[in-house]
Amino acid sequence: MTLKLGDVHREAIRRHSARDYPSECCGVFLGRANGEVKQVTEVVALKNLRHDPSRAQELLPVDDAGRETERNRFLIDPLDQLRVEKDARARGLEVLGYYHSHPDHPARPSIYDREHAWARYSYVIISVERGVPKDLTSWVLAEDGGAFCAEQVEIVG
Ligand SMILES: [Zn+2]
Repeated sequence: MTLKLGDVHREAIRRHSARDYPSECCGVFLGRANGEVKQVTEVVALKNLRHDPSRAQELLPVDDAGRETERNRFLIDPLDQLRVEKDARARGLEVLGYYHSHPDHPARPSIYDREHAWARYSYVIISVERGVPKDLTSWVLAEDGGAFCAEQVEIVG
């Protein structure tokens, strides 16, 4: 699969990741899947619910709430997710995947990322080094769900 991302979409993700640094930012992207190509048409920034530790802990508890914070974890509010999905469907678009940032960490999925990923979606990760957005990668779960495979990202003007 190839993820086609507009230059404007990449910029939106970069800006969001820099704005929320040193926290992880997160969001969703919409568009259309056609054969082997996923064409992104829209990027929607969402809030990282790990900013609200008690609510986040209720929804999806982490083992070590003192160390697993918005600095290294993200959680999308299920209500935001529903709202975005509904809105996308109403406009003939689909949720193609999710993005989040890795502040001062490489743009590679963590074990946590893999364990919380769903099949089919693209997971875009952007690394942010000392506040400056760097690499952008995309990942999809293998058919058996065991591993994340790098997905080709094509930036279109
Ligand atoms: Zn991650």
